[in-house]
Parts: sequence; structure tokens; C-alpha cells
Amino acid sequence: MRVVGHQAVRESIAQRYREDRLAHALLFAGPPGIGKFLVAIDVARLVVCTGKKPPCGECDPCRRVAARSHPDVRFAGLPPGKKEIGVDTARDLKRFVQLKSVEAHCKVVLIDDAQHLSIAAQNALLKTLEEPPGKAVIILVADGAGSLLPTVRSRCQRIAFAPLSHPELAEVLRDLGLDDAEAEAVAPLSHGSPGRALAMRDLLQSGDIDRLRDSVAGLGDGRYRSALEFADSLGRSEQEMAARLELLGEILQSELRRSVLDGTDDTEVVGRKVRQLTVLAEARQLLRRRNPNRPLLAEATALKLARI
Ligand SMILES: [Zn+2]
Repeated sequence: MRVVGHQAVRESIAQRYREDRLAHALLFAGPPGIGKFLVAIDVARLVVCTGKKPPCGECDPCRRVAARSHPDVRFAGLPPGKKEIGVDTARDLKRFVQLKSVEAHCKVVLIDDAQHLSIAAQNALLKTLEEPPGKAVIILVADGAGSLLPTVRSRCQRIAFAPLSHPELAEVLRDLGLDDAEAEAVAPLSHGSPGRALAMRDLLQSGDIDRLRDSVAGLGDGRYRSALEFADSLGRSEQEMAARLELLGEILQSELRRSVLDGTDDTEVVGRKVRQLTVLAEARQLLRRRNPNRPLLAEATALKLARI
């Protein structure tokens, strides 16, 4: 997949690399789903490319980076179904950096979802981040750098990524095969993140939005059963729940805006929606903590909403 946007960041990295000023440990930080990891892959290509204009994307090493089969480029990330990147992965990466490179003049390590590195894994990487034994570039790609140890952060050059602009988002959505109507429906909910746009499209297509609306409305009947149904409708995983809480927030906000425009914004209704939005925001914040008890949080959120 080609990289769209992030032009200034990419140019600055390329220039620093050409001038041999690129730090050996980089931290790519920014909102999820905006293409940070694609830029990281591009940096790996920049390092191993044998074409005339690196990263050419066409030469054999560039292609093997894309296929994840280049011997000097190692990918790591959150294993499916796991909540953290463990210390074994960190030790494996450490060993990889210690080995001499096979083809390229430098090794590259790309760690996606680095915000999920366990504390032990982060500690295991400290020395490698500070001073890699051979020539190496290590890129940590994180949705939020807050969960990384200060000692890890201070050893990396931080590169901040911003959400995509509206035209850039539209371009990626076309690349991803969304038609104009789909793109128009999800773009305002996407906050410049194609990853989020895809999640929103899935929710829209599955009819989840209607179900969510109904289950919030059902909370008003004061029955525990309705609260349980609502908690259930928030999904089975943390990712699902985060997406649905966010979507629910978007729905409430758009209803709020509409009521102001229509002149139906009586203070009681507005106050209720604002309190609901506060509960949703709190729940999202709690969900982002390390190892949250998701089912309990879903139920507690439902009960709080039911009492408003
Ligand atoms: Zn190339």
C-alpha cells in the first residue's frame, strides 16, 4: 500500500538520512490508523534501496521489505489476541540487531503498536535503543507515547504525526475501494484517520449504529436487563468497545448540534446529552488504561448512563 500524506515528515527523515544525521532510535507518535507504520516501512526501504531514487519501491530490496522477507529488516507488533508485546519479542529484536547485516549496510527494526510493549520488554530494549551494537535504525510506532517509559522516550527521537487532511483522507479511502457515498458517510467521523474510517464503515454496514441507538434509548426504562443489553452491544473486545463508545459519542454530538440548529435545544435534554457524553468520555479513558476489566467497565458505563 502506498503512503499518502505526511510529506513534511517524510522529507525531513529522508534529508536527515542523506546527511547521515538520522537518529538510530525513532519514535513515530500520533493518532491510530493514519499511516505511521506505512511511513516506517518507507524508511526501511530508504535504508535498503538499491534504486536510483531511494526509496524507489521497485528494486528487489524494496520489494522484499514490502513482502516482509528482507533479511536485514525485522517487523514486530502486537501478536493476534494478545494484549502486550512481551519480553521474548524484545530479546529477539535485541539479538537481531546484534547480528551483522546480511545485505544492507544497516539493520532496521520496525515495532508497530509500540504502546503495547510490556514494561519488561521496554526495559529489555533500553540498551539497544541507547546504543545499538551495530549500525541499526529502530523505529517504534505508537498511537500514544504515554504508556512508554520515560527512559524509552528519552532514548528516541520523537516524530509527531498529524491526522490526514480531508483531500488526503479521500485519496486513501479511494485506494481502499470505498465508493463516494461510503466515503462521504464516514469521512466526518474519521478525524483524518483511514483506519478509523474503515472501522466506521464496518459499523455502518453491519447496522450497529441503529442497534446502538436503540440500546441507548432502551436504557431509559430503568431495568437492569436493558443495561446488560446495552453493555453487551458495546462488543466483545477492547477495540470494538472503544470504536462503539466513540461512535456513540459522535451520534450524541451530532444530535446535540442538530437540536441547536432546529431550535429544540431545551436545557433538560441538552444537559442529559452532555452528561451522557461525559460518561462516554470517562469510559473511553478507562478503557485505554493497561489491562482494563472490559466487561465490568461496560456494565458500569451502562448503569451510569441509565441513571442520567
Ligand atoms: Zn528501491
